Amino acid sequence: MSAPRLEINLHKIHHNASILIQRLAARGISVTAVTKATIGSPEIACILLNAGINTLGDSRIENIETMRRAGVAATMSLIRSPMLSHVARAVIYADISFNSELEVIRGLSSAAQKAKRNHGVVLMVELGDLREGIMPGDLEQTVRELLSLPNLVLKGIGTNLACRSGVTPDDRNMTELSTLADAIEEKFNLTLDIVSGGNSPNLNWALGNHDTGRVNNLRLGESILLGCEPLQRLPIEGLHTDAITLVAEVIESKDKPSQPWGKLGQTAFGQRAPPAADQGRITQAILAIGEQDTDPGGLQAPAGIDILGASSDHLIVNSGQCHQPVGSEIRFQLNYSAMLRAMTSPFVEKVMGAYDGKAITC
Ligand SMILES: *Cc1c(COP(=O)(O)O)cnc(C)c1O
Repeated sequence: MSAPRLEINLHKIHHNASILIQRLAARGISVTAVTKATIGSPEIACILLNAGINTLGDSRIENIETMRRAGVAATMSLIRSPMLSHVARAVIYADISFNSELEVIRGLSSAAQKAKRNHGVVLMVELGDLREGIMPGDLEQTVRELLSLPNLVLKGIGTNLACRSGVTPDDRNMTELSTLADAIEEKFNLTLDIVSGGNSPNLNWALGNHDTGRVNNLRLGESILLGCEPLQRLPIEGLHTDAITLVAEVIESKDKPSQPWGKLGQTAFGQRAPPAADQGRITQAILAIGEQDTDPGGLQAPAGIDILGASSDHLIVNSGQCHQPVGSEIRFQLNYSAMLRAMTSPFVEKVMGAYDGKAITC
């Protein structure tokens, strides 16, 4: 097998998705599986549907198009506001899009009219994280205008926390979302099918021991793929945290001093951590993987191996007592950032397998 590669255990992803679906179903909450980190892999989409997911969410229309062309039969939600320049693609390939700008919503309406389709809209509400969303006081006016536009269907409202500022989902902001849903329904005499409370950082709140109000949907990416919750980055009980691992190959292995010599300026990617303490000579290995393939800062090496630094194409490790000969492979655990970049890099092969020996069918 060639390196670098991501080894993707489809059985473990299936397991993670099923467990989260079950736990949230007990609270009346459905799961939209978010596929952006997989750049729309039809195999992974297929596994998610087999696990019981009905709706896939992706921030990029390109990924939704990839899955559609591969015949993935799910409701597709574009979870980032469409660009004005993408509205025609959005209404053709996505069933629903998440929106916060009337200008875009008007564009979707005309595009949907031209395409002779109806398009679902979820309005995003700003509840403090200061990323996307209509300010709560402007929601009613936005709904009023949306309802006057042809070929659009108001599907619901949603919010996104814990991404830009790390604002934690809690009773206060989630109750505000429920209250807004009730108010819109009453004012306009309609039913909102979707009240989407947030992303993986919302799991602790949603599964906590309290009333979840009107929240009936979460959009989950990281928790399904990596088995951890993003607020403290702790593993979620009963989930696999090693469904996706990164394998890289050693291309140089030598005893070298731990300290550089010569006058020091900036490194390839600017100055990082201050130089490590002098450890004398160490067994240094170089792996053929770098910033162009992954986020080196998000890799976790096996016990006994320390990551020392990285540039575009080289990852340098102290292999300690375990000499790593040229040609040997080292396996790393990844955080979200490292996984996202490795999934996106054309230089990293994706090897999928181990779905309980069963064939994958969509
Ligand atoms: C990426 C994203 C998600 C999924 O977030 P995770 O933390 O990976 O679960 C959900 N909603 C929106 C709007 C997103 O952009």
